[in-house]
Amino acid sequence: MAPKFQFADVRRGFSLAMGRVVDLIVPPKCLVCHQSVTIGASLCVACWQKLNFIEHPICDVMGTPFAYDQGIGTLSAAALAAPPPWDKARAAVVFDDHSKGLVHALKYKDHHEAALFMVRLMARAGRDVLAASDLVVPVPLHPSRLWKRRFNQAALLAKPLAAGAGKPYGAVQLLRKVATRQQVGLKQEAREKNVRKAFAIAEDLLLDIKDRTVLVVDDVRTTGATAAACAEALKVAGAAQVFVLSFALVLEPHRFHIEA
Ligand SMILES: [Zn+2]
Repeated sequence: MAPKFQFADVRRGFSLAMGRVVDLIVPPKCLVCHQSVTIGASLCVACWQKLNFIEHPICDVMGTPFAYDQGIGTLSAAALAAPPPWDKARAAVVFDDHSKGLVHALKYKDHHEAALFMVRLMARAGRDVLAASDLVVPVPLHPSRLWKRRFNQAALLAKPLAAGAGKPYGAVQLLRKVATRQQVGLKQEAREKNVRKAFAIAEDLLLDIKDRTVLVVDDVRTTGATAAACAEALKVAGAAQVFVLSFALVLEPHRFHIEA
């Protein structure tokens, strides 16, 4: 059977071709150190090698790496001491001085092409939670913050992740009803207080959540306070399971101050 004509394919092909033309006119640069890179690359070899990938074995609940394999189903001390409201969390890389460059390129420097690179790593790190999800939602920004920044970096990651996995993308199910103050500089307890009850589910979309497995996507998980608040709101709305997938995970929250 002849392949069906898809306007979207033509448009995608055109934008890819235009991207290559632009690459020839303006040589692509590493998103972190701005050295020239080969066409199609997002990072230079040196910056790529500095990324600290989170590989198995990991805690199934927190997504934190173990120093050695302790057997399937082993949980970290943090997960046992204070079980989070989410069921499983995954992250692609450790948040450090190297991965920070990518996060900032997306969030603060309008390099939206960073999202596609980050999404590839997230799809790999979170393949189990993506496969088991019924709905993929971004951590929402409050409308006032969205208006100032013009985009939600979590949505730039969540949408292609959902599309790549063939899962429904939920842009409006999870709402940020309170304009919380920025998390930068806040300690864990203050962060939890800051975001607790900040999220809600759109009342007319409760059926999208009830008895479903929902994957919450964010760029960085710092103390986990934001992810926990989202998971709590989703569980209250009847979600069967909540998974969390972020690009980077902060293993030493006292070292870094990340904006929510
Ligand atoms: Zn570089």
